[in-house]
Amino acid sequence: MLGFLLGTVVQLQQSTLLPWWVNVAMLGLAVLLFLAGRALRRPGGLGMVLVALALALLGFGVTGWRASAYLADALNPNLEGRDVQVRGIVANLPQRNESGLRFRLEIESGSLQGQVVRLPPVMDVAWYGGANSAGPALWADARTGPSGTPMLSPSAMNTLPADVRAGERWDMTVRLKAPHGSRNPNGFDYELWLWEQGVQATGYVRSSAKDPAPQRLEQTWHQPVALARQIVRERIYREISERKFAGMIAALVVGDQAAIDHADWDVFRATGVAHLVSISGLHITMFAWLAARIVSWLWRRSSRLCLWFPATHAAVVGGVLLATAYSVFSGWGIPSQRTCLMLTTVAVLRLSGARWPWPLVWLLTCAVVVACDPWALLQAGFWLSFVAVGVLFASDAGVRPATPATATGTADSQPARWVTWAGKFAHSVVGNLREQWVITVALTPLTMLLFGQVSLVGLAANALAIPWITLVVTPLAMLGVFVPFLWGLAGGAMAWLFAYLHGLASWSWASVALPVPPVWAAAAGVLGGLLMVLPWSRSLRVLGLPMLLPALLWRASVPPLAEFDLLAPDIGQGNAVQVRTANHALLYDAGPRFSVESDAGHRVLVPLLQSQHTQLDMLILSHKDLDHVGGAPAVLTMQPQAELLSSIEAGNPLQALRAARPCVAGQHWEWDGVQFDILHPQADDYLVTNKANAMSCVLRISNGRQTALLVGDIEKPQEERLVAAAAALHADVLLVPHHGSKTSSSAEFLDAVAPRIAIVQSGYRNRFGHPTATVMERLHERHVEVVDSPHCGAFTWQSWQAQNGACFRSENLRYWHHHVP
Ligand SMILES: [Zn+2]
Repeated sequence: MLGFLLGTVVQLQQSTLLPWWVNVAMLGLAVLLFLAGRALRRPGGLGMVLVALALALLGFGVTGWRASAYLADALNPNLEGRDVQVRGIVANLPQRNESGLRFRLEIESGSLQGQVVRLPPVMDVAWYGGANSAGPALWADARTGPSGTPMLSPSAMNTLPADVRAGERWDMTVRLKAPHGSRNPNGFDYELWLWEQGVQATGYVRSSAKDPAPQRLEQTWHQPVALARQIVRERIYREISERKFAGMIAALVVGDQAAIDHADWDVFRATGVAHLVSISGLHITMFAWLAARIVSWLWRRSSRLCLWFPATHAAVVGGVLLATAYSVFSGWGIPSQRTCLMLTTVAVLRLSGARWPWPLVWLLTCAVVVACDPWALLQAGFWLSFVAVGVLFASDAGVRPATPATATGTADSQPARWVTWAGKFAHSVVGNLREQWVITVALTPLTMLLFGQVSLVGLAANALAIPWITLVVTPLAMLGVFVPFLWGLAGGAMAWLFAYLHGLASWSWASVALPVPPVWAAAAGVLGGLLMVLPWSRSLRVLGLPMLLPALLWRASVPPLAEFDLLAPDIGQGNAVQVRTANHALLYDAGPRFSVESDAGHRVLVPLLQSQHTQLDMLILSHKDLDHVGGAPAVLTMQPQAELLSSIEAGNPLQALRAARPCVAGQHWEWDGVQFDILHPQADDYLVTNKANAMSCVLRISNGRQTALLVGDIEKPQEERLVAAAAALHADVLLVPHHGSKTSSSAEFLDAVAPRIAIVQSGYRNRFGHPTATVMERLHERHVEVVDSPHCGAFTWQSWQAQNGACFRSENLRYWHHHVP
């Protein structure tokens, strides 16, 4: 099994796929090796090695072959940016938000200008419209105009259909794009997420006046579960008056978390109970556990049933079946699928009477899941549910049947006889709580390592929240499907719990962020955590403690004295550059806002700063445009100590979050031997009304040997002024002005700066066409190395290794990632 897993792991490191015949050859070789290994017959030794090698080749070959087959359906790059007529069936629960609707479409046919075209079988579609729409844009797209004001595109004038329902067949015109997400260190891998769900294209509905109107053809029965979920979701919203709690109950029943807003998620995360309101592996495991208990209790009411099939076995089968049913109804997401597979594996093993040692059972569940879904190995959620399932079944209570006695068994019926019913009940409640407690404790180090955040009040929160959600809220919410009145009670129970969590979260030490350690330290930490909770001897448990230390004491590396580094994260169309010296850090601009409910701050910058444990001394917002200040509220909230330096006007709403000091040419400071200078705007620029771009704060960073120049969105007139003033413009690294727009990067300016490396922060297929061909040509003529976000992802550069920087996307490119043309 280890061989199989290793083969798969190696395959997952590939940046491009091998030709199909290589994979087939590997499978052939695997069969030969396997036969040879078996022929040797001796246990252990060479035979074993050959079999392991055969299984490694099998893992590699099968995964590679599956990936090739899947990629054959990828979107034809020639169709990107084209308006294609598609006919398809709505395949999930449509999500409505302020900017429009989102849903998944199972494609039946497609055509371009009357010609039939081949399309990927599944695509994610957005339908923009409504009052708040800022125009058509998917994640990593621009939502703001060149001047930063929200642009109302033609489709923004559309009104959305009253309703799009799961299972409906539609004809619509969709502008297509390959799946492309931002790539940042420790960031969410959107492209892998889509790959796992089989989505190979994204797009938005074209429905302006000159496009053919989208047409609802009919309601089909292709998606009965999704339709049932949609109906239940609507009923929940009708039954529970307060939308906030209706959203939480909907999350528990139909797995739709969209209605839980940022602030509430922050409360759940700060108190470490986010796993309870999302249909995570842990949640399904808890559900299976409760279902097994109930089935076992009911089964033991009947001696005839028990004679026919032992209650412990019935509990296992019932638990797994009910958990699977729940998973299906709550959306059958990837984490639920994996967890059901793990639970089934463990259940089959137990029913077969096999007494395997626990490490082997774990390895088997892992191998089974990986055989079905090799890409699971790369997902945090997989490891969380893997550990949760393992701990549940391996902990004391899990290994020995936890039910006091089976009708046929006699093992522990002796003491149970004289225990009163009340005593038994109390005993079982305590036992149950203990089990849940063990899981929480076991998962704490893992959560910390995966998400870089540990909730100090988490234990207090979970102690109440786990039994409350598992034993009270979830059962009420599920029964509400049959007796809607119970939803009101469930909502009330949730409101009560939320008040408690809110109280806990408001403590300033509620949660602590830790830097994300390297893999080896993380693995040691997780092993240590496991050692500490598993039912082994005390001396073994104590060993777990030192194994936690490397992860706990890990500190992200910082620049040496008199040096600095730059990190330009992939935030799509906008600017954001982090600058660090030995003891200080600043963020130059805070990225774009994507929509009312999402911005680069929440999506990228806050997690990134957290994962490196960066404390900002200063946030510079070059100017007020939304592609530069969109993420500022999130960053300012998370970094209360950061000073704000900016050209934003006095009445800007951001001033309420932090009073801004105007940036003015001549400002200068030194951090750890590195000089910082503001070169623009001039003090008297504030006295007249200027274009926002013209007010961009220009920052020069230099240690005497290396220089970087960050210029925001300045345009030709400001560039000319800087050149004319003979400002110290020369720089090794230049943040290309205005994302490579033709309004900027004049030849004179580029000659004065003479950069070696030019960073263009722009969105993939952004609709302004940034960076423009003219600017790219000017840079190439001057032999400047250009790094742009769509190709490079996050870019890092260090003044003490100044020759070249590092591109996160290209250095971590795997075959499921978008290979940008
Ligand atoms: Zn801009």
